[in-house]
Amino acid sequence: MALTLGIPFCTSVHAFANNISLESMTKDITFLASDELNGRASFTKDIDKAANYISQRFQEIGLVPMKGEKSFLQSFNIINIAPKSLSATINGQAIEDNNIAIASTLEQFNWTTQKDFSTHVIGKEDNMRAVIGSLNQTGGKHLVLINTAHAKLFAGYRGYFARGLNKLQLEHQGAIVMVLTDETNLVSVDVSATTNITKQKLTNVVGVLPGAKKPKEIVLFSGHYDHLGVAPGRAGNEEADVIYNGADDDASGTTAVINLAQYYAKKGDNARSLMFSAFTAEEIGGFGSRYFSQQLNPDNVVAMINIEMIGKPSKFGPGKMWMTGMERSNLGALLNESLISKGAKVHQDPYPEQNLFYRSDNATLARLGVPAHSFSSTQLDKDKHYHHVSDDLASLDLSSMHQVIESLSIATQGLVDGDITPSRVDVSQVKKTGKIY
Ligand SMILES: [Zn+2]
Repeated sequence: MALTLGIPFCTSVHAFANNISLESMTKDITFLASDELNGRASFTKDIDKAANYISQRFQEIGLVPMKGEKSFLQSFNIINIAPKSLSATINGQAIEDNNIAIASTLEQFNWTTQKDFSTHVIGKEDNMRAVIGSLNQTGGKHLVLINTAHAKLFAGYRGYFARGLNKLQLEHQGAIVMVLTDETNLVSVDVSATTNITKQKLTNVVGVLPGAKKPKEIVLFSGHYDHLGVAPGRAGNEEADVIYNGADDDASGTTAVINLAQYYAKKGDNARSLMFSAFTAEEIGGFGSRYFSQQLNPDNVVAMINIEMIGKPSKFGPGKMWMTGMERSNLGALLNESLISKGAKVHQDPYPEQNLFYRSDNATLARLGVPAHSFSSTQLDKDKHYHHVSDDLASLDLSSMHQVIESLSIATQGLVDGDITPSRVDVSQVKKTGKIY
């Protein structure tokens, strides 16, 4: 991977005031996307280096830790529950290991009668994804007989579940046992399973700029600083580029958070409290934002500006951004009132079929009613670098990224001043998370 970086020439004059320092933006993203951090995977010492860097930046900017925290580092544990042993005999026939999969939040169980669980059959023509998804929403204990026509999808689920389930709390006790078989009539059963439960530490980095006039009202700026780490099985091969640098995803958003903090701290006249959060573990299930959302009263969060992948020109042109879930609150409309006079605007998510509203940390806060949206410029439908080792600094357009952050600084001024208050998200319209996996 090429590490050379030319600071982009900004020959075109755009309408924006120079709120954001291009130099400091470039410095931050250069470090966060560097090979030194080995792709910032959750649970590694490399991601801690990123956390320490962000924390140091918050310190020099003059933020203070969140109430109840001693530092900017908000650490917590997540629980991993992984299958340890699993065996099944259906109608007197032992099932081969490859044809059985489990997602379980139970330490161990042994099912010997059909009263122990509910039985489901997924036939050749049935929608396997939909059935498994709805069992996950319901929770409880389920045995699913899956027609062998679904072998490929079954193998996908099996691989995914074998890595174990990550949970903040073990609040729901349930299990889905999947058996790949052409058997549709269950006569006798014997299923036993045990799981391995381990705890691992994760860390968000959160800093606050207390508001002078409306300190209880919070405007949250966020991005996720974790990424995918090092390409599995290829580590140690010095010839190949094996590091998932995640320059766009989401060193770019994290850099925006730091530099917006720097801008608003320097300005020093925020009426509302501003909270700046670099979330961990977005890529493995959004655990950073989930833990964070339990450490404050979400009713106090006036808006969440989550920044995801702003490192390259959008479909609408360089420096132009769009937001997810625009129709779910009037935040976008309010921001556009500030932007239109500057010749800029926030566009609607051009990829509704990709469900991006649910694919970042904003969804967690939206489930609690917060007008929480992700702001992005990615062309996800054709970005060859997305979740590839080539998502590195050289693939970014720093001038475009700078313009997006400038736009955000202008767009959010009304929120910061306490002049605009967006409508809440209708919680009943937001898809819930599953109970088991
Ligand atoms: Zn990602």
